[in-house]
Amino acid sequence: MSPTKEDILKIVEEKGIRFIRLQFTDIYGIPKNVAITAEQLEKALDGELMFDGSSIDGFVRIEESDMYLKPDPSTFMILPWADQRYAEARLICDIYTYDGKPFSGCPRGNLKRILQEAKQMGIDEMYVGPEAEFFLFQTKEDGTLTTVTHDEAGYFDLAPVDRGENARRDMVLALEQMGFEVEASHHEVAPGQHEIDFKYDSAVRTADKVITFKTVVRKIAKKHGLHATFMPKPVYGIAGSGMHLNISLAAKGQNIFYDPSTPHQLSDIALYFIGGLLKHARAISAITNPLVNSYKRLVSGFEAPVYIAWSFRNRSPLIRIPAKRGPSTRIELRSPDPSANPYLAFAVCLKAGLDGIKNKIMPPPPCDRNIYHMDEEERKAWGIGNLPASLGEALKELEQDEVIREALGEHIFERYMEGKRLEWDTYRMQVHEWELKEYLVKY
Ligand code: ADP
Ligand code: MG
Ligand code: MG
Ligand code: MG
Ligand code: MG
Repeated sequence: MSPTKEDILKIVEEKGIRFIRLQFTDIYGIPKNVAITAEQLEKALDGELMFDGSSIDGFVRIEESDMYLKPDPSTFMILPWADQRYAEARLICDIYTYDGKPFSGCPRGNLKRILQEAKQMGIDEMYVGPEAEFFLFQTKEDGTLTTVTHDEAGYFDLAPVDRGENARRDMVLALEQMGFEVEASHHEVAPGQHEIDFKYDSAVRTADKVITFKTVVRKIAKKHGLHATFMPKPVYGIAGSGMHLNISLAAKGQNIFYDPSTPHQLSDIALYFIGGLLKHARAISAITNPLVNSYKRLVSGFEAPVYIAWSFRNRSPLIRIPAKRGPSTRIELRSPDPSANPYLAFAVCLKAGLDGIKNKIMPPPPCDRNIYHMDEEERKAWGIGNLPASLGEALKELEQDEVIREALGEHIFERYMEGKRLEWDTYRMQVHEWELKEYLVKY
């Protein structure tokens, strides 16, 4: 149950909390916060606290910069790592314009807008369970970052226990203290790579948790002298980090992807949702795989998807249907990576699925063969396309996809494109190490 304004004021008083961080994210999913003192909290909880939106990337121009932060009381949390003398809490906020309307550039508010569309179609909840992977790298004594993993360094390390495993255990403990239900945590395939899975929740809550999760992982890593990164492909030649999204829809408390009367026990709604995701997969990539570097993960040989297909068994396609049925019936979208803004990622996935449901888009038959062993001709016969090979290609797809543009709204779409085009162009003009090695002598 969400605490009331009075509950929060009482807790803050009793626990001697001095500072409260009012949190939100910019359109790139970078967490921002405005710290206030306990004295200002009542005003903030009444939604009367203003801030200057022009200082945030992709938000607004100077002339329209006054914004309101409206804290969501259900997100109130005491931060476990804060110094006891200055106990701190946080509240996640929605952003409103000076005239009291939800601000169209707020990713959290935008996700709520798409969830409202779903509601009008009789869908009460979108549940998301993310599987975020990350690397833990050594930092040098002077604090500079490396891409050396603790596993490699372990050989030289005199300490008998793995620093990475220790750090991960502390991360799980901190997360549990903050109300996360951690379902699994394990070492991943690449050296220095880890995954921590927490229980699925409704879309806005899960997006909030993804942001908190990344902050906690980074903070605890730092305490262990390690650097945690959610960069999708930090090291050439080994697996990158993904963030698979497990998704289901519910109405009247029931999982509506489940239908025991069909051969696969998937409902038509589930099939249409898959159809919509496959149809819009290329444009969605611009949001779920937002970095130049994201596309270096989406290559064959590392269990990351390259082709637009779905399957019941195989882990190579874009969408896998895990075997569990009943309330656990879900689809697993395997392309997203943890650098994505979760609010935007969930909004575009939901919108694509809703388009599938509205227009009864039936997906092609599931492909249970290894797509990497098919040639182009065979893939064509199965109706299997490719995910974009670069950020530039993905941005072009986003520009041409009305449905996915609508999932962002005009404001976010325009600012996002502007920022990402600049990122792509800046990268495109660089001369890389690889080019010098290949060409400098030969030509
Ligand atoms: P994998 O087998 O791909 O490694 P994991 O066990 O690591 O999968 O993660 C499964 C995720 O799916 C968890 O976050 C879990 O809470 C989530 N999940 C389970 N049931 C549902 C559901 N009905 N809707 C959405 N997510 C779900
Ligand atoms: Mg997993
Ligand atoms: Mg698992
Ligand atoms: Mg994994
Ligand atoms: Mg998975």
